[in-house]
Amino acid sequence: MTILSDPPVTSSNVVRTAAAPAATGAASLPAGPEEVAFEIKDFCLWYGARQALHEVTISIPAKKVTAIIGPSGCGKSTFLRALNRMHEVTPGTRLTGSLRLFGADLYSQGVEPAVVRRRVGMVFQKSNPFPTLSIGENVLVGLRLNGVRDRALLQQRLEQSLRQAALWEEVKDHLNRPGVSLSGGQQQRLCIARALAVQPEVLLMDEPCSALDPLATAKIEELIQTLREQYTVIIVTHNMQQAARCSDRTAFFYLGKLIEYDETRRIFTTPSNPQTEAYVSGRFG
Ligand code: ADP
Repeated sequence: MTILSDPPVTSSNVVRTAAAPAATGAASLPAGPEEVAFEIKDFCLWYGARQALHEVTISIPAKKVTAIIGPSGCGKSTFLRALNRMHEVTPGTRLTGSLRLFGADLYSQGVEPAVVRRRVGMVFQKSNPFPTLSIGENVLVGLRLNGVRDRALLQQRLEQSLRQAALWEEVKDHLNRPGVSLSGGQQQRLCIARALAVQPEVLLMDEPCSALDPLATAKIEELIQTLREQYTVIIVTHNMQQAARCSDRTAFFYLGKLIEYDETRRIFTTPSNPQTEAYVSGRFG
């Protein structure tokens, strides 16, 4: 199926950045067009009879970091999982609305969930290296499952992915050690390397630092800054400071609804919705 091949950038999947051009000088060039990665319209999701997402409409830009914030149970993870069709494995889940990635409908008939997951990688709250696999094998497992046998290519992707995940220097001399022998923060970067090895376009991160100490968290946040040069990154976090530090855009969810979505700076300084204001100023949640 070729439904998921990238369409050309067209006026329908390009939006202008919200920032107004500055007044003068070289830095004042008008903001260029911004490519949209996810175009989501009226997206609803039910677990059995219970509705977890209500008519979410949002355009998520490519090669930027978008943070999803909101109190526990408001649908952040549900929304993130919908972006790579992870709900397929949850019996009784039903969804309506449309969800497009670079113009292609991710839920259209004939689109294989496995193909979607190759394009949209995911890293979870708790790092989950395969316990019986070495560091190197953990990184390459997705490529091997996809039938890649070319040793030179595997070696090249191994080094590239570990470098992208800022882990290469720490592990290059013991790639045969078990993945689970690494520290918690290293294991999370190993999982990021594993997700990157299949060269996705999008990286979803569900509370990637919640089990990590401040130093390991800082490393992951630094890494997110470099990943945005090549990938569209979407991160769910309950840590508002983290969202403020490392994202370009922030979406605030409450009770399964998208309440507000804007430049991160605006969400945390001058949000337009009183519920967002109450949440970011710590009045509930
Ligand atoms: P958040 O990530 O913001 O904490 P979730 O997306 O995990 O919120 O959950 C949103 C709502 O959906 C909650 O009420 C939660 O209990 C419910 N929910 C989440 N996963 C499931 C599931 N697999 N089956 C039934 N209900 C679920």
